[in-house]
Amino acid sequence: METSTEGAAETPGGGIAEVDPPVPDEQATTREAAATAAVVEARVAIAPASLSPSRASDFMQCPLLYRFRVIDRLPEKPSEAATRGTLVHAVLERLFDAPAAERTPPRAKSLIPGQWDRLRETRPEVVELFADDPEGERLARWLGEAEQLVERWFGLEDPTRLEPAERELFVEAVLDSGLKLRGIIDRVDVAPTGDVRIVDYKTGKAPRPEYAEGALFQMKFYALVVWRLKNVIPRRLQLVYLGSGDVLTYDPVLADLERVERKLLALWEAIREATETGDWRPRPTKLCGWCDHQAHCPEFGGTPPPYPLAVRAAESGDGSQGRMGPD
Ligand code: SF4
Repeated sequence: METSTEGAAETPGGGIAEVDPPVPDEQATTREAAATAAVVEARVAIAPASLSPSRASDFMQCPLLYRFRVIDRLPEKPSEAATRGTLVHAVLERLFDAPAAERTPPRAKSLIPGQWDRLRETRPEVVELFADDPEGERLARWLGEAEQLVERWFGLEDPTRLEPAERELFVEAVLDSGLKLRGIIDRVDVAPTGDVRIVDYKTGKAPRPEYAEGALFQMKFYALVVWRLKNVIPRRLQLVYLGSGDVLTYDPVLADLERVERKLLALWEAIREATETGDWRPRPTKLCGWCDHQAHCPEFGGTPPPYPLAVRAAESGDGSQGRMGPD
């Protein structure tokens, strides 16, 4: 299948693991300001150094959304769909800890409560999703939906016949241009022949055929990273849609990876230019309905934070400046 690469956009709940560390910009307190008289305000934008599939998709969807997420680092509320995706991913990953014969639907479903507890410990903000549900009815329904997604997976793949080479694999590669690509691959299978298959779980529904290329963008991104790291072109890219019970596969060739590399370099240039000029244009689409930032978006009557952000220059006089950079 060969299609254009325009319009790749992740919808919430897609289950892609985020890789950009949520490091908020430091706010100078009054006390700090008094103690650091040498600190000067600088308004410097630093060009992006790396890209993840999610952030690349953000920029393609809407440059202003990219800015809000990467530069302004505006907080976003957890959503039930995205959190359910994270939970289901964790269950599918952990199921492979069990011996092959024990990777059954009941075993998988039994992992859900423990993984939900773990998620609440590691990301306490998800607790607020059900803060207004004292009887636990909505939570029970939500957990039931997670069970259904897990159960559906067994109709699409047979984990008793799989021995993943990697699960939740963090990958990072630097292109000749200096652009760093990084992300987390849900599963990597390696056949006895050495053929590599990259697998990604989606808890949403499969896209219509005209949008399939957008979904494959992330997979080709990973294939490019694996190729750059291992000098091996993955034999197959596989998207497993638990929401609709579909599997989308694509067998990439060298030209695909070269094309996606050119596309990423062009994106990187566009992001660098926007970083310098401050021209982060909103691009309204129906996906705005999923956007947490309408209150700051001119398309919805909002005002973005000032740009460039005021950042503190280093006190040491070594010429370094506070970071205001995309991922
Ligand atoms: S509301 Fe729409 S146009 Fe505005 S920042 Fe969000 S995605 Fe972009």
